[in-house]
Amino acid sequence: MSSRTVEARPGRFGGYGGRFVPESLVGACEELERAFHEAWGDTEFRDRLSGFLGDYAGRPTPLTPALRLSAELGVTVLLKREDLAHTGSHKINNVLGQALLAERMGKRRLIAETGAGSHGVATATAGALLGLPTTVFMGERDIERQALNVFRMRTLGAEVVPVTTGSRTLKDACTEALRHWVGAVDDSHYCLGSVMGPHPYPVMVREFQRVIGDEARRQVPAVPDFVVACVGGGSNAAGTFAGFLDTDAALIGVEAEGGAAVTRGSDGILHGFRTRLLQDAEGQIAEAHSIAPGLDYPGVGPEHAWFASTGQARYVTVGDTDVVAAVHRLARAEGIICALESAHAVAWLINAVAAGEIPAGASVLVTVSGRGDKDMATLMELA
Ligand SMILES: *Cc1c(COP(=O)(O)O)cnc(C)c1O
Repeated sequence: MSSRTVEARPGRFGGYGGRFVPESLVGACEELERAFHEAWGDTEFRDRLSGFLGDYAGRPTPLTPALRLSAELGVTVLLKREDLAHTGSHKINNVLGQALLAERMGKRRLIAETGAGSHGVATATAGALLGLPTTVFMGERDIERQALNVFRMRTLGAEVVPVTTGSRTLKDACTEALRHWVGAVDDSHYCLGSVMGPHPYPVMVREFQRVIGDEARRQVPAVPDFVVACVGGGSNAAGTFAGFLDTDAALIGVEAEGGAAVTRGSDGILHGFRTRLLQDAEGQIAEAHSIAPGLDYPGVGPEHAWFASTGQARYVTVGDTDVVAAVHRLARAEGIICALESAHAVAWLINAVAAGEIPAGASVLVTVSGRGDKDMATLMELA
């Protein structure tokens, strides 16, 4: 980004988070912060969002006892079924919140970035629902790899703009969406896809996703010993953890081995916030690699970087081979084909039971962030 970057203090998670944006975006971030806080405190807005989450997105999503997997592992496994939400993942929770907020703010267009396309499809869906024209920035390489999602977005009436800079993937799409927002702040809302970016996004997206954890808290028969979710940017994990922060459940965030910003990253600034990043000694951002396209981001939400530093949550990694095995195991044991992203959480569960980290008889809540239909071609190639 071109103009001078200024730092403000709000939205800090320990030493992480903040708002490192060009001066031209400071006003837009402040306007969004005010609008979000007003809306979140307004029962009319909350009721309207709840209405869409219920009548449109299919909430509450079920909590499914994984009976056969539990018997095989000797622990009690409960699955929070975000795969059953409209568009097939938790992403709809956030985009419905942001699209309603955009409408309330009088914005007439939505801008979004997308990597694999799931957030782009969700945003295009919310745009169609509310009649807001939607522009999605997507790396040229991702456009080639995710042709089906590109077609979905266009079917929903969205414009998909190829990003040809850098590695032509998600990181570059984020940069381009932010750059485009600079020139369109008056009439456009930037609908960011995870608990990342400048303040207020990490707080706002967590609040829109906390419906996962709040529902699960009401649905569990007792507070589970472990609460497990996969971490890309960290929104499904942040939403899940939010429901259990006041308990003594062990909170476990599972990163992809090739995208482990918390576990293997170092402190730095990217896309308007300070966090843990995959970067080299010169601060050049490294590319993340995971079989799960939704975990292919070199950074992580600032709240997770902070949770890791304070020990409020623990972050672990699993590799692609275990992830693929976990998809197949869950499919055969429970009749649920989960997304490769979600399978990271399942794979950690299986590994941790085998390693004795989860004792026999323990209870484990696992968030199934999405369904695996989008990953069938990847799995077929490996079969
Ligand atoms: C996008 C996505 C993720 C990763 O995003 P988070 O912000 O970390 O939740 C995980 N699972 C699915 C199914 C996704 O679509």
